[in-house]
Amino acid sequence: MCGIFGVYPHKDAAQLVCLGLYALQHRGEESAGIITRNGKKVHLHKALGLVSDVFNEKILRSLRGEFAIGHLRYSTTGSSNIKNTQPFYVKSKVGDIAIAHNGNLTNTFDLHRELENKGALFQTSMDSEIIAHLLAHSQQKDIKEAIIWSLSKLEGAYSLVLMLNDILIGARDTYGFRPLCLGKFDGAYILASETCTLDLIGAKYIRDIQPGEIVFIYKDKIESVMPFKKSARAFCIFEYIYFARPDSNIFENNVYLTRKKLGVQLATEFGAKADLVMPIPDSGVFAALGFSEKSKIPFEFGMIRNHYIGRTFIQPTQDLRDFRVKIKLNPLKEVLNGKKVIIVEDSIVRGTTSRMRIKTIRQAGAKEIHMRVSCPPLKFPCFYGIDFPTKKELVASKHDIAWIRDFIGADSLEYLSLEGMLNAMPISKENFCTACFTGKYPINHACRFSKDILEK
Ligand code: 5GP
Ligand code: MG
Repeated sequence: MCGIFGVYPHKDAAQLVCLGLYALQHRGEESAGIITRNGKKVHLHKALGLVSDVFNEKILRSLRGEFAIGHLRYSTTGSSNIKNTQPFYVKSKVGDIAIAHNGNLTNTFDLHRELENKGALFQTSMDSEIIAHLLAHSQQKDIKEAIIWSLSKLEGAYSLVLMLNDILIGARDTYGFRPLCLGKFDGAYILASETCTLDLIGAKYIRDIQPGEIVFIYKDKIESVMPFKKSARAFCIFEYIYFARPDSNIFENNVYLTRKKLGVQLATEFGAKADLVMPIPDSGVFAALGFSEKSKIPFEFGMIRNHYIGRTFIQPTQDLRDFRVKIKLNPLKEVLNGKKVIIVEDSIVRGTTSRMRIKTIRQAGAKEIHMRVSCPPLKFPCFYGIDFPTKKELVASKHDIAWIRDFIGADSLEYLSLEGMLNAMPISKENFCTACFTGKYPINHACRFSKDILEK
């Protein structure tokens, strides 16, 4: 996962991008970067860490120019080091190229080999670097044609914000896996992963970039092309379930309302007798609200979140063992003691944090714990940018629900059905990629991935 943002032309371009990145921080906590262009001069600052660690007033002031793009990284491919931060920038025969990419390409291996055979020297282990090499190798004279040719070589998931000299470019793969929207602020165009960024700066939402669309933003005009053959849509359903911010509208619909509907559906399918419904905050809050509304069981915050901790560096000792779990979420004994509790969680990935949470909720005195999950069991890895690496790490790929219930220590465990999840969505089911639940991948990977990667 990653967050991307671009603006052009605006005198405070770097500041606007920095605000955009603040609003997208949930999409990647590993590194942050902004590149600006001022005349022919390029300024770049990127580093490992959160937006607030990476940027300060002095740095922002040094990022001059009316043109800026930014990126937040949540590594899915490539290792976590400073080299793999974005925007990725190179000077080439076509000029200055900077790339901010969200999604995973799936034909990386073939393209890598093809480009290396032509003499390309790769600096990073990011799939995004391939786009720069393709541009540098393109034979087209016209920059627009060069972009279209380069993107036509890609397979997999990409929402892109690119700087190519003084053109700001936004593009989305033909499936539309990842979101990307277009906004306007003070005469400037904005490209952003999510609409919550537009709310923050007071920009107007214009529309989503369409699957397969490329927009070219110049100082005085905007152009749009749809050069590729249409494919089925495959919007990532997990953006609605977990990833996107609830105050964003993605794929043209609100995330908060969708999560609440998932909770309503969950209560319809798997009610339980209980004294209270509680979320695992923050991600489970919205489905829990829907669950409570439908089941008429009171909603309570059974645990309180500390929002200030960031990354913890204190090491566990014999006397200080459980602090890692409790430092972020502290169960409320006064609410939980002696109660039958329904916990609503957005998803179970590995099951390890759910197990720890349930243990602390029981220690706080809960008499019965019934866990309800607002999506079906996650069984298959994602190749399009969500961090579900291999089957081995997805608890539901190897074990049935009864096993997982015992592993996490709940009295009962139920997952929302696939049909129920799709029915709760604001758009029809044909629009979605549900591969992580069904194993039906929208792109045929037979020749791309060896069987053992799929089976691992
Ligand atoms: P688990 O019980 O599987 O250890 O953890 C489940 C929790 O991880 C849920 O609260 C869910 O919100 C969160 N989660 C789901 N998907 C992701 C993801 O891609 N990255 C991270 N960091 N957390 C996730
Ligand atoms: Mg969570």
